[in-house]
Order: sequence, then C-alpha cells, then structure tokens
Amino acid sequence: METGNITDKSAKTAALVVSIHDVSPVTRDIVTKILRRLEEIGVPRCSLLVVPAHHRRPDSDRDKAFVAFLQQCVRAGHEVVLHGYTHSDDRETYSSLRDFWVSRVYTAREGEFFQLDGETARSKLVAGMKMLKRMKTPATGFIAPAWLLSAEAEKVLVELGFDYTVRVGSLKDLRNGKEVLSRSMVYSTRRVWRRFVSLAWNEMLGRQLAGAPLVRMSLHPTDHRYGIVWKHATRWVEHFLTTHRPMTYAEFLGETRRTKKKTVDVALAGAS
Ligand SMILES: [Zn+2]
Repeated sequence: METGNITDKSAKTAALVVSIHDVSPVTRDIVTKILRRLEEIGVPRCSLLVVPAHHRRPDSDRDKAFVAFLQQCVRAGHEVVLHGYTHSDDRETYSSLRDFWVSRVYTAREGEFFQLDGETARSKLVAGMKMLKRMKTPATGFIAPAWLLSAEAEKVLVELGFDYTVRVGSLKDLRNGKEVLSRSMVYSTRRVWRRFVSLAWNEMLGRQLAGAPLVRMSLHPTDHRYGIVWKHATRWVEHFLTTHRPMTYAEFLGETRRTKKKTVDVALAGAS
C-alpha cells in the first residue's frame, strides 16, 4: 500500500470518519485501547456507537466506570451515536426465508431494528435516548445494529428528531432526506475464512475509495483481537489520513449542510 505524500492539513477537504461499533460496559476496556491507538496515529475524534443494554445485560448507565469513560470521551471530542437498544434480534418467527437468513445467518441475530414495527422501534429509541440523557452523553444520530433499519423505524427516527442515520453504503440527513453515498470499510471476524475474505475485500475497497469526499472506517471491538485485521485497518486509516481529515459523522453532516457537498436525493437515487 502506498501512503503518498503528506499534504497540508488545511488543504484537506475530504473527510475520514472512523466509527467504533458496540461500545458498552462489556467492551469498554478494548474500546479504550482502540481509541488510544487511533489517537497515536492521528485520529483524535471518532463516532462511538453506544448500545444501551448490550445483549440484555444491565443498562449501561448503572456502570459508573462506563459512564465516566463515556463522559470523558465526549469531553475529548468524540461523538456518541445511539446504536440499537440490546443489539439483539430475539424473534422466533420470521416472515420469509430471506428474513430468516438475514437474521440468523447473515447477522447472527444482531439485526435488532431489521424488521421492527414502528411502535416497538419507538419504545426502544425513547428508552435509549433517555439513558443517554441520564449519562449526560446525548446523541443526534442513530445507527441500527448491522446497519439494518426498517422503513417504519426510520420514520420514527424522523419523528423523534434524530439528525441522521447511517447504513453500510450511505449517510442520510434525516432533516432533508438527502444521502451521501459512501461504502464503509468494515471487517467480519466471526470465522477464519470470513477474516481472510474481509481483508481481500477491504484491500480492494480501500483502493477504490482514494479521492472519495467521505471515507468511512467502521471498527468493531473484535477487530482489535485479531492482529492481522487490526494492522490492516490501522494501516488504511494512516493511509487515508494523508489525504483526508478525521472527523465524526455529526461534524461531517454539519460541514455538508454548510458547504452543500455533493449529495444524492433519495428519490432520485431510488429511481436510477
Ligand atoms: Zn453493532
């Protein structure tokens, strides 16, 4: 991988958003290590995807060390994003074979908001927002576990005043419905073969993203456990830092609204 010449920071108009998924009391230690390393290589701010009651464990705000950690992160400039409620899809019945496959095989029952009706989505979102408020770490964005968000749940996000949501291929401004298309780099580490497919896929994707106005690197705590994956991810982050400015999703959205960067109207994108 070529790292290219380091350019003047002020000249960088393209953005790099590094997000860390599944932040909770369960993953606090490993997320701390990830943030430390990212800071060392030049990423001072990330979007932290917080799960209020990770896999039905006690609510995150009951863990004082976690609350202190999260508040410190916010003071340091990181952004808190609401990331589901339990992060689990606990359904036992499915509407179709595809529904079953996505839930049980593709996401290993992590797609909590994949087929959620509006009413259930609302109660989970309100409970999540309340918890973040109690921790004094409110969020303006919502990202569904496994990036799978039902249409009904998305409508509720708008009603509740969320600013944006993110899927694997785009960031959507919920105030005006506009999308910025950008495929995220992300690793799958559940099986050995998945890790190797992931490395090849991300190598290809990273090369395609050169020059993109928004580059996204979505990290999971498990990425840190596998040296080959972690090294690959951090090498690509370092590579993009030569041409892109690190920022959070909220900061990127703010800049997009101010500068009217290239966006794609959802209706137009769907029609093409
Ligand atoms: Zn997640």
